[in-house]
Amino acid sequence: MAKEDVVIIGSGLGGLSAAVMLAREGKRVLVVERQRVVGGCLQSFRRGRHLLDTGIHYVGALADGAILNQYFRYLGVMDRLRLARLDDEGFDCIHLADGSSYLHAAGYDRFVETLARDFPRERAGLEAFCARMREVGELISPEVLRSGRLSAGGLEYMSLSAVGELERCIGDEKLRQVLAGSLPLYAGKRESASFYIHAMINHSNIEGAYSFVGGTQQLADLLVEELRRHGGEIRTSAEVTRIHLNGDCVEWVELNGEERIETASVISSIHPCHTFSLLDNNQVIKRAFYTRLQTLENSYGIFTVYLTFKKDTVRYENRNHYIYNTEDVWSLEGKFGGLDIPWVLFSMQASDAPYCEVATLLIPMQLKELERWLETKSGHRGADYEAFKAHFAEQIIELVHQRIPYLKPAIEKVYTASPLTYRDYTGTPDGSAYGIVKDFHNPIVNHLPARTRIRNLLLTGQSLNVHGALGVVVSSAVTCSELLGVEYLAKKIGNA
Ligand SMILES: Cc1cc2nc3c(=O)[nH]c(=O)nc-3n(C[C@H](O)[C@H](O)[C@H](O)COP(=O)(O)OP(=O)(O)OC[C@H]3O[C@@H](n4cnc5c(N)ncnc54)[C@H](O)[C@@H]3O)c2cc1C
Repeated sequence: MAKEDVVIIGSGLGGLSAAVMLAREGKRVLVVERQRVVGGCLQSFRRGRHLLDTGIHYVGALADGAILNQYFRYLGVMDRLRLARLDDEGFDCIHLADGSSYLHAAGYDRFVETLARDFPRERAGLEAFCARMREVGELISPEVLRSGRLSAGGLEYMSLSAVGELERCIGDEKLRQVLAGSLPLYAGKRESASFYIHAMINHSNIEGAYSFVGGTQQLADLLVEELRRHGGEIRTSAEVTRIHLNGDCVEWVELNGEERIETASVISSIHPCHTFSLLDNNQVIKRAFYTRLQTLENSYGIFTVYLTFKKDTVRYENRNHYIYNTEDVWSLEGKFGGLDIPWVLFSMQASDAPYCEVATLLIPMQLKELERWLETKSGHRGADYEAFKAHFAEQIIELVHQRIPYLKPAIEKVYTASPLTYRDYTGTPDGSAYGIVKDFHNPIVNHLPARTRIRNLLLTGQSLNVHGALGVVVSSAVTCSELLGVEYLAKKIGNA
């Protein structure tokens, strides 16, 4: 049996981008994915005549000269992606519970100008806050790559609270709320949200935010094409069921409980707890370490409502709406129709047509709300689960209707996915949307390194550093640099 150089577990953006990097640099790579279709959170699935996206609705830093553009250029996919740039005048609209709304505009000058119109006394504070976000965003700029580093540091920002930095720079409480308004992108909680995460994500969007025309599956498919072009392989319906150790090294991984694949190294892009639970003949990872890992909090899950619209009824709007149903944007206590609906993130799927066919509504949800169905499997959860989801979706649509009244009459069909769907589909514990929470109190513990105590087992994926499209691609480079060398890989990416 031929031995692989690297087996990569999981074909989400984390696994696929690591796979392309290694294959491009001459490694023999095999990606194994337990689902039938590649992509993880990038997967688009069909309902009727529509393609619905699983997990990525918009992405920053894709403009020429921006960092994710540089990575995608190196990965060979940038020029073939079909993208729509969101409105520079306001890519996000934050609707506060008091009925007011504010835009987050692209480009720092425009961002400050737009908000300073409503908060003129806060101009200096806005500038200071933006300067801080920029400092963080530029830690991973293309210039840093070209200097032979993947990142110029950042630990000092990881131990800062997002709320603390807002309070330090901004005097007006309402403006603080507006600036924190995109917190659904990182499942932010007042007590734990890290300024580093807030800044990485917001900086990338302020540099220019984009959505995918025709769905996110295109990115997964292009990466697979690149992987194959460089001699790599991918197998679907191939679940890793064991990672077998010999001493402090992985010897083989087991697929679907039956087949063994020998490999020199393994990169696991699935949740770290899941990875370590697969170890077999382990004398290296101590129980205390695994127990501590399990105590790290995972972000809450997301309930997704997909709306499809009657033909040519809703004009595509290249802007997201964050609709708050709580006085304090950080609170998860907002009730609507007796249900917990603190906020809704409304986003239209881009298409070539002037009319929108699909929109998504994202709402936070803890798994405890789904306790009755924890032991059930997708497609077999019963009529009461379907009724619960339908009722929840109805209330969410009502709430959104109060702010965006033209939507409701145009709805053709409603589909839903709960955190249980994500749990069973991507294998993320508790249906968590973004994996391990990067609590600013303890960055050394919750920003896990790529290296493990098993010499040839590396980690990557959204639980490592920053989640989201940009976060997992950068983490993949950090992980691959363990095999390729930091300076070598950084310069290759930076000069692509
Ligand atoms: C609802 C939602 C909305 C989001 N919106 C955005 C957004 O707008 N912008 C943004 O940038 N980010 C967004 N994110 C976050 C982003 O999607 C993720 O952070 C990122 O895609 C995670 O990539 P990954 O490769 O780490 O994991 P995943 O995409 O989860 O991939 C992991 C893969 O591993 C596979 N797998 C699991 N176990 C095994 C096994 N034992 N053997 C083989 N394969 C296995 C899974 O099937 C899956 O395909 C969103 C996430 C969610 C849930």
